[in-house]
Amino acid sequence: MLTVLFAAPSLWPEYQEPLPRALAEAGIDARLVTKAAPEAVDYIVYAPSSPLQDFTPYTRTKAVLNLWAGVERIVGNPTLTQPLCRMVDPGLTEGMVEWVTGHTLRHHLGMDRHIVNPGHVWDPACPPLARERGVTILGMGALGAACAAALRALNFPVTGWSRTAKPGCLHGEEGLREALARAEILVTLLPKTPETENLLNGRTLAMLPRGAVILNPGRGALIDDAALIAALDAGQVGHATLDVFRIEPLPQDHPFWSHPGVTVTPHIAADTRASTAAHVIAENIRRGEAGEPFLHLVDRTRGY
Ligand code: NDP
Repeated sequence: MLTVLFAAPSLWPEYQEPLPRALAEAGIDARLVTKAAPEAVDYIVYAPSSPLQDFTPYTRTKAVLNLWAGVERIVGNPTLTQPLCRMVDPGLTEGMVEWVTGHTLRHHLGMDRHIVNPGHVWDPACPPLARERGVTILGMGALGAACAAALRALNFPVTGWSRTAKPGCLHGEEGLREALARAEILVTLLPKTPETENLLNGRTLAMLPRGAVILNPGRGALIDDAALIAALDAGQVGHATLDVFRIEPLPQDHPFWSHPGVTVTPHIAADTRASTAAHVIAENIRRGEAGEPFLHLVDRTRGY
């Protein structure tokens, strides 16, 4: 019988029913525990909130299965020598598609003008069609690609940009310039790595069409905060809807809270959903036991 350590105590109430069920459905004979002698643990289910920081004694552990898509808080842990898998969860992806599509439509349709209209202004200016509004997604991975598909289904011309070359997607420095130039609405769905930190700075924000809208559900560190405020003040960026921040919760005195050009959502764009994520965890344990390659294995050298 396998020992699976659920090392994210605060999430245990959500997983205590669906995870044993998913393991049983996958035919895995496992003891799911929240405490165990390290040398007895076969798999670790992990979240950044976990108190577990030293993986050295987990000599038998075949994989660490992260409940979050982002791995920046664990990927550099020098004690972690076991394979690390990140979360690609259908529930999380659906949530992100809804957040990105909803906020894209908010800005595309200019909804704010009608929702908050204290002067009762009758302004019959119609928004353009989606087909006339360029959207760019930086990061065309599991989440970016799903958002691109949803936005394309609404007729938005979507430009994607990623690290490696792939069909229909830009890459590299020249590709970034082109992607930003097309971005009336820019969505950032990149992981936080040394390469992506401050990718949006004074220089790159200037490559956007004037008045572009930014949606950042990726990571706060992708954007230089001060450069964004300056670009908003100068009208270079029309609005920024931000879900993620360098420090969370966003400190009360942070200028984003009071800036009229910023909408803050409190890291709610997409949550891992226990009912679907439990099956992803179970499938990876099944794979590990069958000697098959793990799903969503993190490449430590590239950091995501
Ligand atoms: P993936 O690993 O599937 O995709 C990452 C994408 O970013 C890939 O297309 C990758 O390129 C690209 N990328 C990485 N580094 C670079 C770089 N240096 N230059 C250009 N492109 C780069 O991740 P997910 O789609 O699953 O998740 C993306 C991020 O979304 C997570 O890392 C996390 O930070 C954030 N997130 C936020 C949530 C929220 O609630 N706000 C919830 C879940 C995730 P390539 O395809 O070439 O590898």
